[in-house]
Amino acid sequence: MNPFTYTRTDDPAAAVKQVSGDARAAFLAGGTSLLDLMKLRVESPAQLVDINAVPLNKIEATDGGLRVGALVSNTDLAYHDAVRKDFPALSEALLSGASPQLRNMASVGGNLMQRTRCYYFRDGISQCNKNRPGSGCAALEGFNRIHAVLGGSDQCIATHPSDMAVALVALDAVVKVRGPKGEHSIKAADFHLLPADKPERETALEHGELITAVELTRSPLAARSHYLKVRDRASYEFALASAAVALEIKDGVISAARLALGGVATKPWRAFEAEKALVGQKPTEAVFAAAAKAALKDAKPQKYNGFKIDLAQRTIVRALTTVGGMP
Ligand SMILES: Cc1cc2nc3c(=O)[nH]c(=O)nc-3n(C[C@H](O)[C@H](O)[C@H](O)COP(=O)(O)OP(=O)(O)OC[C@H]3O[C@@H](n4cnc5c(N)ncnc54)[C@H](O)[C@@H]3O)c2cc1C
Repeated sequence: MNPFTYTRTDDPAAAVKQVSGDARAAFLAGGTSLLDLMKLRVESPAQLVDINAVPLNKIEATDGGLRVGALVSNTDLAYHDAVRKDFPALSEALLSGASPQLRNMASVGGNLMQRTRCYYFRDGISQCNKNRPGSGCAALEGFNRIHAVLGGSDQCIATHPSDMAVALVALDAVVKVRGPKGEHSIKAADFHLLPADKPERETALEHGELITAVELTRSPLAARSHYLKVRDRASYEFALASAAVALEIKDGVISAARLALGGVATKPWRAFEAEKALVGQKPTEAVFAAAAKAALKDAKPQKYNGFKIDLAQRTIVRALTTVGGMP
């Protein structure tokens, strides 16, 4: 690990000022992601600003739903009564991630900002355009079984690892941000960026901007949501394919649908075309299969990850069947 300074603050303005004023400063929340990357020498901040005392750890009811502070732990969010009742996909996504101990430490803000588990990124020595822009992407010609089939570029095919973010995208969540110039909001679907020719730029946040909260809006759609994750072992593993789905069904017909995918794309992936294929249809397995096909229509497999296309489609169909009210 490289040497670094450590400070704490309970003032969000001071935290933003400190980090935005130093290109090598970083916020520290639960530390479950950042400290690993520091030990691996993939990240080497010169200054850590511990934000755990900043009062951002409440889940509050709003007129239309919930406001979740950025420092709420993944455990507290997953087991919150209103989350389980009104946003079940979010609770399920959180509980499918990491382990109980990690979820106790992991924060909402840190979960959104976690970085890819691509082994060429994490080994710190391979060619990686995220680590060293312009150095190349070892995954493109390497062992790319866990990599993306959607949203990749000739610079990067690393998948986004977060389960929670996939559910937030399907639930139309909004990320609240505080920066040196004030506060603003970013839709969860726009929060993460495609790699294109700048894979090192992963989110819409500017350096030094602090995530303060995530806002969720209650709806019949969100209440009928579900997250399904498929992985190499039953727990403590990242997704090979996952689906967050939400359906509103009126008079036996799907009146609204949301579908987002994890494990298969370079960012939490909203499948708009699949949603269109669902709306106006009766919930049948054939309709779900057509939607799943639409979701993966533009998939580009690499040498070792072609199986993800079929796996993701099956995951979507199974998840939709769970919320579709079918026998
Ligand atoms: C062994 C292991 C298995 C895991 N398995 C899964 C899994 O299956 N699914 C899954 O989704 N995740 C998984 N994770 C990842 C885990 O969810 C993240 O490590 C965790 O959510 C990060 O939160 P944190 O508070 O610890 O972030 P930190 O490590 O403190 O920070 C991570 C990053 O976020 C930034 N940051 C933190 N808070 C803010 C904020 N409020 N505003 C702006 N930037 C901020 C930090 O500067 C840092 O860059 C796993 C992690 C481990 C170690």
